[in-house]
Parts: sequence; structure tokens; C-alpha cells
Amino acid sequence: MNNKACIVGGGVIGGGWVARFLLNGWDVSVYDPDPEAERKINEVLENARRSLPSLYDKVLPTEGELKLHENIADAVVNANWIQESVPERLELKHKIIKQIQQYANEDSVLGSSTSGFKPSELQKNALNPQQIIVTHPFNPVYLLPLVELVPSVVTPVTVVDRAKEILISIGMKPLHIRKEIDAHIADRLLEAVWREGLWLIKDEIATTEEIDDAIRFGFGLRWAQMGLFETYRIAGGEAGMKHFISQFGPCLEWPWSKLTDVPDLTDSLINEIAEQSDAQSGHLSIRELEQLRDDNLVGMMRALKKSGSGAGGIINCHETTLRMPVEEKQLPITVSRQVPQSWTDYNGHMNETNYLEASSQATDAFMELIGADANYIASGYSYFTAETHIRYLAEVKAGENISITTQVLTGEGKKMKLFHRIFATNGDMVATCETLQLHMDLKARCTSLPSAAVAEKLNFYAKAHSEMSSPEGSGRYVGQRP
Ligand code: NAD
Repeated sequence: MNNKACIVGGGVIGGGWVARFLLNGWDVSVYDPDPEAERKINEVLENARRSLPSLYDKVLPTEGELKLHENIADAVVNANWIQESVPERLELKHKIIKQIQQYANEDSVLGSSTSGFKPSELQKNALNPQQIIVTHPFNPVYLLPLVELVPSVVTPVTVVDRAKEILISIGMKPLHIRKEIDAHIADRLLEAVWREGLWLIKDEIATTEEIDDAIRFGFGLRWAQMGLFETYRIAGGEAGMKHFISQFGPCLEWPWSKLTDVPDLTDSLINEIAEQSDAQSGHLSIRELEQLRDDNLVGMMRALKKSGSGAGGIINCHETTLRMPVEEKQLPITVSRQVPQSWTDYNGHMNETNYLEASSQATDAFMELIGADANYIASGYSYFTAETHIRYLAEVKAGENISITTQVLTGEGKKMKLFHRIFATNGDMVATCETLQLHMDLKARCTSLPSAAVAEKLNFYAKAHSEMSSPEGSGRYVGQRP
């Protein structure tokens, strides 16, 4: 039986939680009295389905079942995780928490998405205060991994640990905030920047677009991978952090910023900001902006995946927990994944280079199967590609699932010749890739024999696969008549 998450309040944030749990194989129940809730949640889900699986090079678990309920009692029953995501009003949150706890299992986690309230404020007069914890996510919840996890002094360690374990299992990064504080950590930082932005507009120094440019062309790119302090460490040069602080610390006393002063949010200032924002982005609908944001986030997070920095490290860890189907048609399945948006081109289908990328992932997975894995490579040995031939047989669109089987054609001495077949979900073969790999000594940078253990495993597959007929299309070269 699947785990069950219950989401109370299915707006911007609740909808994101629905998608995060559902696409990670949880069943999800929702309670939201808004008659438009179902449509809104389905729109968030549509965005999530086209972006979240694109972060991974393995297929996510089968989607769970989504149910919308007419009352809290039905939604909450038997849920392992309950996420309160109603509007940011304390009296409303108290009322909802009371209703939830009448029906919740005692050992379920009751997380609140609150941006600003402390857990002790939410726990006041609750039936079971120990169950309540702040789990503050970031929009879009289905893509951004951070969740600020804030317990109060009465929250038991077991609840914190269970919450961490569940959040990690759905690909998130729980940041345990040791001491409760209004607005946790991230919103405090964001508010400081936002306040400065408002002053810059009010004082007619910059427009909304110019402020956004100042962020996205410069420090925004640094923040996504290193945050604030690691970036400043580098800014101090070889002399490091101490030098940086002695150089720029005095500016804090001048000061450059407006600190906690807030400009009056008069109608005229609000209109000015709204008009500038319309001029900047009004040509795109909110859905179009969301999809642009998501495609860019996926692209950036996939880049971070290569180095394992920031959010990329979280995706890599989560990916190791995703299970591959074992065998199909007596051949190992070496890839099972969704085709990301970023793999498609102006023809509206998967670009030719990405058939090679998928095949290269199949080769990597097969290398792991025979023990030529990360440890083996770290010990100084690997395989290099000497030649590859791809046949493009059918189109594949973004969002489709593909799987690859791998047949060993040759596995002797330094040579390993593989034949990858790429299949669409309907079972049609969409491409084949024949590749000749040579075993290498990475120190000497020349070919060498594999270790006895790797040779033995490769031999096992080579022998088993030699009993199958030679695949149609193997040995083809460009220009050859079929
Ligand atoms: P929202 O207005 O988009 O969604 C709130 C939802 O709650 C609506 O769909 C509404 O119909 C529903 N609701 C209202 N009364 C309800 C009730 N009695 N029972 C069940 N559902 C009810 O708001 P949001 O932006 O999703 O914010 C929700 C929470 O998440 C807030 O606490 C907010 O501080 C927090 N949060 C928001 C963001 C953000 O960027 N928007 C980010 C992190 C956290």
C-alpha cells in the first residue's frame, strides 16, 4: 500500500505539495473548499509532470492516486503526512489544525507551510502540540528542494527525524532550524532584499526590471550554487574571509542599505510597481511565466547535478534511491527515464545529440553492472568510447518515457561492444546505438586489460547474449544499403 499525504489548502503552495508527493509515488488527498481547487491543482500538476521528472536520469516511482474530499475528516484519515497550506492567518491556522487533529493519526507528521509563524504559535491550544512542526517550502514546491524544518521546544526529536526522513525520500532538502524565529531564515533574507528593492523604486533609482537585472545578471547566478558566505570567501581572494570582512565590513556602518526602514506602501507606489511589472512581463501569462521559470530551473539544476553543487547534490542523492526495472526480454534494462523538455529541438522532438546522451547513460549503467563503477574508475581504470553508430528510427516527444536494453556483442580482452535498443512506452523501438568501448588505464592514458572481476562479469553477459541472434541493424555504417 502506498503512503498517503493529506494536503489541506490546495492553492499555490498546497498544489505544489500535492505534485511533489504524487509524483514520488504517494497517494494524496486534498481538502480545499474553493470550487476552483480541482482545476487549479490540475494546472500545477501539469507543470510538475513536464518538469520534475526531467531532473532525473531515472524514472520516478509510479504516480500515486489523487482524491479531493468534501471535508477534512475524510481527507485526513490514515494519512502519514498532513500538510497545512491555508492562507497566512493565525486564527485560521488554529481552527484548521484543531479540525485536522480530531481525525489525524497520532504518529502522523502535521507540517505547516507557514512563511512567518513560529511552531510554538501554531501549537497554542492544539489537541496534540507535539505533532505540529513548521515545514516551510519554496515555490514551486515540486522543483525546489528546500524545506525549512522548524520544531519548537516541545517537538520531540522523533518527530523531527521522521519529518526529515520523509522529506528526503521525496527528494527534498530539510534544513533543520535549531531555534524558532519569526519568518525562519530564508524569508528574513528575502525580505531584506525586497525592502531595499522597494526603496530603490520609491527613490526613483531603478525600475522593477532594472532591479531584476541587477540580480539575474550577477549575484543571482552565484547564489544558486554557493550561497552568500562561500561566494564572499572567494571574494576575499587568497587572504580569504577575514580579509573580505575587514575590507567591506566598515560599509555596514555607513550604511549603504536602508536597514529596517520601510517605504510607505501608498497607492501611488503600489501602482508604480504594478505598472513597471506589467511593462516588464505583462506580455506573458502567469502559466507561460511558470513554464519558463520551470524550464530554466530544470536546466540550471541539471547543470548543478554535474558538479553535485547545491540543489544538484540533492537530486543526485535522491536518484540513487530510485529503482530501475531489472530485466526485459532477457537483456538488462540500463535506462528508464522521461525525455526532458531540454532534450527537444526546433523540430518538436528529441534532438539527435540526446539519443547519444541516453545511450551514453546506458553504457554507464552497464559498466556499473559489470563492476566498472565509480570506485573502479577512482582506482584508475575505465572504458573510453572508440566508435558509435546510431540509427534514428522514430520520433520521441518531451515528457515520453523511454527505456534502453543493452546486449553485449563482444566482450573480450580490452574490447566491449554494446548494442543499445531504445524503446518508447508503447514498446516501439525508436533507435539503436552500437558502441565500441576500449578498456583504459587512466594514469598511462592507454588501453589495458580489465581487472579479473570486471572481465569475469563482462564475460558472463557476453556468453549469455551470444546465444541470442545478432540484432538487426548491428554492423551497419553510414551510406550502407539496408
Ligand atoms: P493561496 O491563497 O494560493 O492558497 C491558500 C488555499 O487555502 C486556497 O486554495 C484556499 O481556497 C484554501 N483555503 C482557504 N480556507 C481554507 C480552509 N478553511 N480549509 C482548507 N483550505 C482553505 O496561498 P499560498 O500562497 O498557497 O499560501 C499558503 C501557505 O503557504 C501560507 O501559510 C503561506 O505563508 C505559505 N507559503 C507561501 C509561499 C508562496 O510563495 N506563495 C511560499 C512558502 C510558504
